Amino acid sequence: MAQRKTIYMDNAATTATSEKALREMLPYYREVYGNPSSLHGAGQSAKEHLDAARARIAARLNADPAEIYFTSGGSESDNQALRSAAANGAKRGKKHIVSTAFEHHAILHTLKKLEREGFEVTYLSVHENGVVLPSDVESAIRDDTALVTVMLANNEIGTVQPIAEIAAVCKAKKVLFHTDAVQAVGHVPVDVRALGVDMLSLSAHKFHGPKGVGALYVRRGVPLATFIEGGAQERGRRAGTENLAGIVGMAAALDEACDGMEKAAKKERALCDRLIAGLSKIPHSRLNGDREKRLPGIVNMCFEGIEGEGLLLLLDDRGICASSGSACTSGSLDPSHVLLALGLPHEVAHGSLRLSLSDETTDKDVDAVLKAVPEVVEYLRNMSPVWEELEKGEKPHLI
Ligand SMILES: *Cc1c(COP(=O)(O)O)cnc(C)c1O
Repeated sequence: MAQRKTIYMDNAATTATSEKALREMLPYYREVYGNPSSLHGAGQSAKEHLDAARARIAARLNADPAEIYFTSGGSESDNQALRSAAANGAKRGKKHIVSTAFEHHAILHTLKKLEREGFEVTYLSVHENGVVLPSDVESAIRDDTALVTVMLANNEIGTVQPIAEIAAVCKAKKVLFHTDAVQAVGHVPVDVRALGVDMLSLSAHKFHGPKGVGALYVRRGVPLATFIEGGAQERGRRAGTENLAGIVGMAAALDEACDGMEKAAKKERALCDRLIAGLSKIPHSRLNGDREKRLPGIVNMCFEGIEGEGLLLLLDDRGICASSGSACTSGSLDPSHVLLALGLPHEVAHGSLRLSLSDETTDKDVDAVLKAVPEVVEYLRNMSPVWEELEKGEKPHLI
C-alpha cells in the first residue's frame, strides 16, 4: 500500500480519518462488539456506548439525542429526509417542493424521481455568486408546498447559504425545511436551534470521520417516515444493526473538528486567500462563488480555453490530487451542474478546478500548487485549438 507523497487537495470529496477517531473506533470491533439490540450484557454494553455517542453528536449540534437518526452517510440522510417529507406532504395533498439548481446529486436525483412520481419541484436560481436569496424562497412557496430543501454549503464552490433566514421564511409559512449540511458540519458552526431547521443531513467522512456513516437531525415533533424496513433500530425509522464503530468514530471526529474549528478555519482561510490571489494572476481566470460568503477551505476557479479533466490528470502526474467539481460527476464529460447554475457558459464551466483543503494542508503544499497550476494551464492552452482561436481574436474571450 506504499503511496508516493501526494498533496491532497480534495477534502470536499472525502477526508483522511483522523488518528483520534480511528483510535476510538478500534475497541468496537473486537471488544465492545455486541449487538445493541441483544438483551445480554455484551449487547447492553454496546447499547450504552451507542447512546453515549448519540448524546455526544447531539450536543455538538445543539440537538436532543432523540432527534438524531444514524444513517449510512450523507446520501442516505438526504434521501430519507426528502422521501419522508414527500410522503407526509402527499397525505395532505401537498405535492410541491422548493429546492435549488445546485444541490448535491443525492438531493437532485431524489427530486427527479419524485417529479416522475407526480411531485412538482421549483429549482431556485443561485444567482451569479452562488447564494440563494431568502426572498426567492418566500416567493416560491405555495399553498401546496410540502418541503423546502436548500444546502448549507455548496460542495463544489463552497458558498454558504443564509440558512437561518430561509428557515425563518419557511417557519412563517409553516413549510418543512431541510438542509444538506454535509459540507458544512465540522467546518463552520452548525447549531440546529440557532438555524431553526426541521431536518439536517451530515456525513462523518467529510470531517475526518470514517466513510459509510452519517446522521439525520429531525426536530422533535416533525414526523419521520421509516426508510429501511426491518428491526426496530433508530426508533423504528431505519432498520439494520448499528455501525457502532463508525458512529463512535463520527462522534470522535466531530468533537475534534469542533474543538479545532476556529484554528483550522483561520489557517485554511489564509491558505485559500493565497491560492485565490496566486491563481487569479493567470490571465482569463475567474473565482467561482461569492468571495466572502464561503467555507474556509474550498477554492473553485475556471481557466478559459482548457478542459478540467486534462488539468486534473497533469496535476495528478505531479502528485497533486484535486477535482473539477463533485466526485460524482468526474468521469462524465458534462460540465458541472453547479457552475452552469451560476450562469457560466459551457466552454467556461469545462475548465474548472476545485481545491479543497484540510487543517493538514501546508504553506509548502500551496507553494507547489501555485507553481504547478499556471504551468499546466499554459501547457494545455498551447495545445488547445480553442485557445488559439481566442488568442487570434477569432472568438471573443468569455472571461
Ligand atoms: C459528500 C456529500 C454528500 C454525500 O455524502 P455521502 O456520505 O458521501 O453519501 C451529500 N451532500 C453533500 C453536500 C456532500 O458534499
